[in-house]
Amino acid sequence: MNEKRLSKTEWKRLEKDLCRPRRPVWHRLSARDRKEAFLYADSYRGFISKAKTERESVETITDLAQKKGFVPFRQAGAKDGRLLWTFRGKAAALAVIGKAPISNGIRLIASHIDSPRLDLKQNPIYEESEMAFLKTHYYGGIKKFHWVARPLAIHGLILKGDGSTVHIELGEGSHDPVFTINDLLPHLAHKVQAQKKASEAIPAEKLNILMGGIPLLGPEDLKDAVRLRLLKILNERYGLVEEDLISAELEIVPAGPCRDVGLDGAFVGGYGQDDRSCAYASLNAILELKGPPVTALALFLDKEEIGSDGNTGAKSSFFEAVAYDIMRHCGSSIEADSLVSILMASKAISADVTAGIDPNYKEVHEEHNDALIGHGICLTKYTGSGGKYSANDAHAEYVNWLRRIWNSAGIIWQAGEMGKVDEGGGGTVAKYFAQRGIDIIDAGPPLLNMHSPFEIAHKADLFMTKGAYKAFYLGDD
Ligand code: MN
Ligand code: MN
Repeated sequence: MNEKRLSKTEWKRLEKDLCRPRRPVWHRLSARDRKEAFLYADSYRGFISKAKTERESVETITDLAQKKGFVPFRQAGAKDGRLLWTFRGKAAALAVIGKAPISNGIRLIASHIDSPRLDLKQNPIYEESEMAFLKTHYYGGIKKFHWVARPLAIHGLILKGDGSTVHIELGEGSHDPVFTINDLLPHLAHKVQAQKKASEAIPAEKLNILMGGIPLLGPEDLKDAVRLRLLKILNERYGLVEEDLISAELEIVPAGPCRDVGLDGAFVGGYGQDDRSCAYASLNAILELKGPPVTALALFLDKEEIGSDGNTGAKSSFFEAVAYDIMRHCGSSIEADSLVSILMASKAISADVTAGIDPNYKEVHEEHNDALIGHGICLTKYTGSGGKYSANDAHAEYVNWLRRIWNSAGIIWQAGEMGKVDEGGGGTVAKYFAQRGIDIIDAGPPLLNMHSPFEIAHKADLFMTKGAYKAFYLGDD
């Protein structure tokens, strides 16, 4: 072969024309956008510090939406183009009616607002060794050792015998007491913990919340005086009796606000960023829409962390109920197949986080295909495990459409998957919407410490995620 040797300039040009470089977002942002990214992170920090449960997320989302002109569907008139739904206080939907007829489909972004945590059991209070505790049952995929020996807060609600509701938020105010789960001192942990697998070192039945230690004064031969004092405090403060705790949803979450992380403030650190980083990005994207080309819908779903079952999760009829409402609102005839044909014409993003490459654990990552922190929103064509099992595997045509939308909007994005093929895996809500005929793909920011009480996100990735979701809503068909 008589191949001509390239000059350095020719080489560089060819490389520029043909290769897809992986460069940090920060280099490619304008000075204005770098400032915007930090401002966006400030408001996001406020959101995740406040909305630590699915119910608190629904409240915050609907408050912000109503301030931006969204009207609850039941109160909306024919001319209202910004609509809002909630269901059981734990799932929400926002829609902005688009210019195209509804038969052209909808643009859907689905995120989830539940996060891994500890729930209280139904009979939670007990006393042992003159201390009172609460029994918990963990929700979603946690590493149990993350939850011991740290300050915890209690959020949720309790329904009393008369049907009235008590809202609880304990452990967040600077003068509030916090709660904790005791761990064993290293001196005595040699056999009970140190020689066990990490997943077995802290059994679930030892995740008991320390609640109190002052006995109620009375006859000294009567038992459980600390427990009775706690019940007395709950009764005096909230009018509660023990049975009320059965009709309660009390969630144990890390106490305190989320924080900036790093001397340069590059990261946001805090609880619940899976998946409230995506919920907040899609919320802000849809709040900014005015007359989108196609009807835009943001869904904020519950129960993702426990398989999307339950009537507030992605498998439930909440989505169909909202879709039928939108069809009626747009004057579409409701025939047996009209919803199916609208869904088959629809495009969606499963807005969920992915794992960023952690330099401490490179052995589980595939460096060519895993997301890099600070390199933008990550497009994930398929999730699942054991050979794409149980994944929505997005079609090339749909990937191509989204890629063109993002490139023309100047979005900085990367394409990746989560970890080495045989290392594990996970799923998202994507497959439940794919089942309904919708083209859908996963896209969200990479996180470090995912599913821990202190998840880490890069501010540049959070900012790009919001921009990418907005570009998706605004993109031409
Ligand atoms: Mn998630
Ligand atoms: Mn998760």
